[in-house]
Amino acid sequence: MLSGFLSCLNVDAFTKAALEVPYQLVGSDLFPGIELWVRRDDLLDPLISGNKAYKLLYNLLELEARQLGTVVTCGGAWSNHVHAVAAAGARFGFDAVGVIRGERAHRLSATLQDAERFGMKLIFVSREQYRRRGEASFISEIGVDEESALFVPEGGSNYIGVRGARVLGEIILRSAPVGFDQVWTACGTGATFAGLASGLKGISTVGVEVLKAGNSILRDAATWLPQEGEIARLDATHKILTDEAGGIHHRLLSGYHCGGYAKYPEELRRFQDELEVETGIPLDPVYTAKLLFALSNSAKNSRLRKGSKILAIHSGGLQGRRGIA
Ligand SMILES: *Cc1c(COP(=O)(O)O)cnc(C)c1O
Repeated sequence: MLSGFLSCLNVDAFTKAALEVPYQLVGSDLFPGIELWVRRDDLLDPLISGNKAYKLLYNLLELEARQLGTVVTCGGAWSNHVHAVAAAGARFGFDAVGVIRGERAHRLSATLQDAERFGMKLIFVSREQYRRRGEASFISEIGVDEESALFVPEGGSNYIGVRGARVLGEIILRSAPVGFDQVWTACGTGATFAGLASGLKGISTVGVEVLKAGNSILRDAATWLPQEGEIARLDATHKILTDEAGGIHHRLLSGYHCGGYAKYPEELRRFQDELEVETGIPLDPVYTAKLLFALSNSAKNSRLRKGSKILAIHSGGLQGRRGIA
């Protein structure tokens, strides 16, 4: 682990840790014709991992500024975000409440067992109740004192989460070992993609959809970015976001969800095994394996300019590997 992991909660300490994250050059036949680097944000911190740390930064600073004592958030049984919030609660001293959809299982997932061990209070709610999680009355409905709680949506994906992800883009501009032509990242909600697109002035960002999201990813990005002072134009296909000032295109790549969210077909399994053996980079099957699978296919099909210097973000999430049989 790096010396500067997230030991205190402020922008300077966070930036210092993020500047130490290594870039790994990947020499592998799986990526013909391109120069591929991986930024190892899985190593940013042993528990508050990857992109979730960036998305939490300003949310937690807001908690502190408003002198609130509790974060309420939600997610699934293997949620990297729920895991990160629980760990952050233990580390930085706030109460964490995790709202989980469905009944409490007799045996909790390893993720939720950790979360409870870190001190998070888990509240299991029905599907109908879960659907109302964005409503103002939700926090009191689940029995938490509204006055002292900050609600952070699933994945940490709100516009201040995007502000944190923008820090990642800015850190890359400061620390990149070479001039990158493109930066690729896995997209769930697209908040990380939006933040990167905003922080990486002049470099085009490519997001790989890991689920069948329809048009929602870039539509959300296009609403978050103006709140961060960016003006971006969305094309009619909802696949290309153009930065008005710089004329840079940011693109969403569909077709690599491998059947849907958390689907893990044999072909992807084999690819992940091969890449891990060749490079020593551990991947998670839900996000980063699909990201690199998309990159490998694009390189093999000559859809990338020869000699392109491409950075792939390792957005963490390795704790979720335990959910794969
Ligand atoms: C949550 C997550 C993502 C997706 O981030 P979004 O901002 O929701 O698009 C990508 N990679 C990993 C490892 C994650 O845990």
